[in-house]
Amino acid sequence: MKIACIGAGYVGGPTMAMMALKCPEIEVVVVDINEERIKAWNSDKLPIYEPGLFEVVKECRGRNLFFSTDTKKHVGEADIVFVSVNTPTKTHGIGAGRAADLTYWEGAARMIASVSTSSKIVVEKSTVPVKTAEAIGKVLKRNCSDPNVNFEILSNPEFLAEGTAMEDLRHPDRVLIGGSETESGRKAVETLASVYAHWIPKERILTANLWSAELAKLTANAFLAQRISSINAISALCEATGADVQQVAHAIGTDTRIGNKFLNASVGFGGSCFQKDILNLCYVCESVGLKEVAEYWFQVVSMNDYQKQRFVERVISAMFNTVSQKKIAIYGFAFKKDTGDTRETPAIDVCKGLIRDGARCCIFDPEVTPEQIFRDLSAPKFEWDRPNYSRSQSHMLENVQVVSDAAQAADGAHAICVLTEWDQFKTLDFKTMYEKMTKPAFIFDGRNILDHAKLREIGFIVYALGKPLDP
Ligand code: NAD
Repeated sequence: MKIACIGAGYVGGPTMAMMALKCPEIEVVVVDINEERIKAWNSDKLPIYEPGLFEVVKECRGRNLFFSTDTKKHVGEADIVFVSVNTPTKTHGIGAGRAADLTYWEGAARMIASVSTSSKIVVEKSTVPVKTAEAIGKVLKRNCSDPNVNFEILSNPEFLAEGTAMEDLRHPDRVLIGGSETESGRKAVETLASVYAHWIPKERILTANLWSAELAKLTANAFLAQRISSINAISALCEATGADVQQVAHAIGTDTRIGNKFLNASVGFGGSCFQKDILNLCYVCESVGLKEVAEYWFQVVSMNDYQKQRFVERVISAMFNTVSQKKIAIYGFAFKKDTGDTRETPAIDVCKGLIRDGARCCIFDPEVTPEQIFRDLSAPKFEWDRPNYSRSQSHMLENVQVVSDAAQAADGAHAICVLTEWDQFKTLDFKTMYEKMTKPAFIFDGRNILDHAKLREIGFIVYALGKPLDP
């Protein structure tokens, strides 16, 4: 059997590496149109950072795992083709700011059809709106010149989380495979299930109809993001009342109906998926006339914007209503720890908000490059219909410095803002940093990872998200 995967990104790369590791008799080829990315996958400096990924790639690369730009050849030869291309939010035209942009998916489908001389299973690995398989089926069928070629489309959404991708792939809570309820559909589901059965217990391989599988992925991300927005909403109330969000989370998390995961209040969720998938869910709801349902889910995104804005306002008001000309050390730019991914990271909005008020941000992140940071802070945001967004201002980058260690960022700073929960921030020598900072020295812990009592003892004025304020 030969498997090809179109798209060598955060999903395509790690998922196929794990598949190659667990199925040594199957040849797995990951293809991409981005030459730089493929070059990096074939080098010792992989294009993405994920704990444990390099080791797996090193073991399998050249054995049964290959990375190539020759998309036509490898897709043409494959029995199963995963499509793991990006499906970003549309930025213009009908549905801008809501709908998924399926340009890349459609392009991939046309290419599959044009190079296929044998029947194939085509697997939706990308997150797509419900009913995409129907549209893709038409594109595949009408673009293949050989009438004997059959395409069976499956939905196999990916539930991995960046930062823990390899562990999630090794021991997933479940693998979901949706297929059509025809005989060939059932056979295709069985074939894909037999690949996953190499390492995943049978009871964890769930099957569903196509539309349920497609919708399950959007729903899963909407529920996860909703939990974050819910606890963040409570964090604002905690600050206003003297309650402590961690105590509240602990108290509710012990209720087995609620559970204790995903209850950390933070400066907001980020990443390429949560916001995009909720917006897409809203669009799907609107397009079938369910306006109220769309509005319900949209609140999750609005609450996230509010939390980022609230954090910026808190920093400014605590620092005597202005951060003009003040140096602020930003600890962490990635959207979460153990990844170098900055897509939709809350750090972008927080830094922009502080710089707009006149601050100078000195940023340190162990995995994010200066190029990424400058690119993210200069990229225009689309305003859509969301009032908190505004286009970037030209002076933005003049007030940004990126450094390679935390102490350097704090040197002379008026404040430290912790925006990513990197473990290494917990063990920093804050006493020495305090001595080098401008007084009064502030710490704004946007992730609640530091020892606040100890910091107060050193002399810091501490703002911890969702916790009682310093007297
Ligand atoms: P990504 O942008 O990192 O990777 C997508 C890759 O596809 C890019 O390298 C791009 O060059 C390539 N590509 C686009 N069109 C192509 C074509 N026609 N031929 C060959 N290559 C092509 O995206 P990602 O983060 O890996 O996400 C991929 C999909 O998986 C998205 O739909 C996303 O919503 C979903 N998803 C992402 C995550 C995550 O944590 N990143 C988790 C679950 C699901």
